[in-house]
Amino acid sequence: MVEIPESHPRRTSLLSREKIVNATKEGLLADSAMIAHGRGEAFDYLLGEKTNDSARLAIKESAARLLSSKHPIISVNGNTAVLAGKSLIRVAAVLNCPIEINIYYRTVKRINNLYLLLENEKMLLAQEQPPTNWVGDWNSTVMAVEILGKENDGRIEGLEGPRSICSAKGIEKADVILVPLEDGDRCEALISLGKQVLVVDLNPMSRTAKMATVTIVDEISRVAKLLLEDVVDGDCRPTKWNNDENLIQALKIIAKNATP
Ligand code: ATP
Ligand code: MG
Repeated sequence: MVEIPESHPRRTSLLSREKIVNATKEGLLADSAMIAHGRGEAFDYLLGEKTNDSARLAIKESAARLLSSKHPIISVNGNTAVLAGKSLIRVAAVLNCPIEINIYYRTVKRINNLYLLLENEKMLLAQEQPPTNWVGDWNSTVMAVEILGKENDGRIEGLEGPRSICSAKGIEKADVILVPLEDGDRCEALISLGKQVLVVDLNPMSRTAKMATVTIVDEISRVAKLLLEDVVDGDCRPTKWNNDENLIQALKIIAKNATP
């Protein structure tokens, strides 16, 4: 591992790359994970590598919808688990909801590897201090977070083959799904089933971004930390969300940043 100086202007980006590279070597990610990450990086550059105001509002809206949901679920793919798994387990603990591993190229080996990663992080997290302002027994709350995805007893109607597999008590049952870095066709299928789909996608032009109920146009590790603050705070209610307007704001930021 190459030492990255604290002062390096691209330190955060280089550290994320390193995480993706190492996780690929460890068999946690498909080869295409690096391509998806690179596409994300390009958009993040254009967005100024920070959480913009419209993204901040989308995070709050997502927190409100997760908090008022009957059966919320956080669905994670490989990149999400590697970059933001720990923060999302904290969010799941506060919401008292499960996490489901759901990957594009489904193999039993990768699902098992990701399951072990998240279970291990869960054990480490349970020993840590609770999030600021959260009151309760943190250890037992974290240990109660179920990591789903190994079972294949649920189906997403409208999709074919391995892409349709999910957990019956996870995605199949959920009314609100937080699904970072989701693919367009799966997002579309989930929406057709009447579910609220909250996505995190740095590309405001992707099919996923356009299809979702709420699109957070921001980087997943930044999002997960802010979402945690919002679900702990709990002071938010779902609004009549205009997602097209939200995407237009992101495009305006890109246009502004790209103007010489
Ligand atoms: P779609 O099928 O929705 O049109 P796509 O096929 O272009 O999307 P994929 O390659 O399936 O996109 O998935 C990667 C998506 O995730 C990209 O839109 C990319 O911008 C986004 N992305 C990658 N890394 C991150 C990250 N760390 N945080 C947020 N979004 C990310
Ligand atoms: Mg796609």
